[in-house]
Amino acid sequence: MSNSGKIEVLIPRCLCEIENAENLNVDDEDFASVFLSWEKGIVSELKPINIKNKKPKKILFPRFVETHSHFDKSFTFGEFPNFKSNYQEALSVNFEEHKTRTKYKVLERAEKSLNLAIKNGYRAIRSHVDTYESHDTNIWDELFKLQKKYSSKLKLQYVALAPLEFWDTPHGEKLAEMFSMKEGILGGVLVPPFINKAKTNYLLSKTLLLADKYKLEIDLHIDESTIEPGAGIKVLLETIDRLNIKVPITCSHLSNILSLNNNEILSLGSKIAEKNIKVIALPLTNFWLLNRKEKSTSLNRPVAPIKQLQRSLVDVSIGSDNVQDPWYPFGNYDPVYLMSLAIPMLQLNPWERLTLSSIFLSPSRLLNLNWDGLVKKGCPVDFVILEAEKWADIFSTNLKREVFINGHLYN
Ligand SMILES: [Zn+2]
Repeated sequence: MSNSGKIEVLIPRCLCEIENAENLNVDDEDFASVFLSWEKGIVSELKPINIKNKKPKKILFPRFVETHSHFDKSFTFGEFPNFKSNYQEALSVNFEEHKTRTKYKVLERAEKSLNLAIKNGYRAIRSHVDTYESHDTNIWDELFKLQKKYSSKLKLQYVALAPLEFWDTPHGEKLAEMFSMKEGILGGVLVPPFINKAKTNYLLSKTLLLADKYKLEIDLHIDESTIEPGAGIKVLLETIDRLNIKVPITCSHLSNILSLNNNEILSLGSKIAEKNIKVIALPLTNFWLLNRKEKSTSLNRPVAPIKQLQRSLVDVSIGSDNVQDPWYPFGNYDPVYLMSLAIPMLQLNPWERLTLSSIFLSPSRLLNLNWDGLVKKGCPVDFVILEAEKWADIFSTNLKREVFINGHLYN
């Protein structure tokens, strides 16, 4: 099958780089009308089209990047439901699920997730995988085989999501050593209340030192709560200062800092930016799970304050988190579903650069991908093309899409 082609499409202006842009027609929603052709899976031409009163009827995006998922538990809601829909119940149902978990079940869930993700338009995914001392370590061999199996279609990154104690055991050390060859990421949870602060400090230091020793990244579930705003991130910043080391860190969630006042958020944001810590906002699970009240409605939901953090020059991505598990019963590894919910709920304008940056460009940087996601001459033809002419068409129920991988239409 040929992997050459051409198309007339709309592309958000901030997601493309065009030579001779003087004649570029950009509409009020910031979509540019362009002609794009490709050869051997690479964009060979990208130029403005400027036809009066005629606009392309398709919108093109780079294939999406999922910064935060948990495919080891995806699609378990049916068997392990959480009808109370709160964090505590999610934790205890997750624990029950663990008792029946086998590596075959995890692999089955992973493949189901990956196939959906590719079909729906993702090109890369970071997934956390629950990790314990009693964990079957063979699972990692299988997961890295899976990573290789899918590598022509999608880049897969793993975070071993373990209690911080795990990284202070011989098992933790062994896994870190293995990850240094496989580019795995150390994960953990840093959520208040911290009953024994000295112990938290100690374990966090151990984790940071281990990452430093093996040149690994860390991705923490941090401050995913409604209490003690910023307690986790403050401990993390103090620890980094004390140890004086540079480990690449991602803070997933960082939800409760929303209840700090604006100046506090901005000043915390500057410290986060200064340490080059990246943040992932996860609005769907946060809005569903946190601050639930049984007998009253509260619209007070904690989620990472994206705009303030961006103002402080923090690189913020938006991710999905859970899919059909005790933490979040919905979703389908569909980036359009995520955008349709997250953009209105967070009051982000889709026609603004910083919004699209948090969906396309920051995630590409976070996963350290070869392609930054900007559509330009020489970039790979890794696209999602939607039958749509405006944002309202994208956020609708009968959207038709085509996914191109290396210039080939994916069916
Ligand atoms: Zn998560």
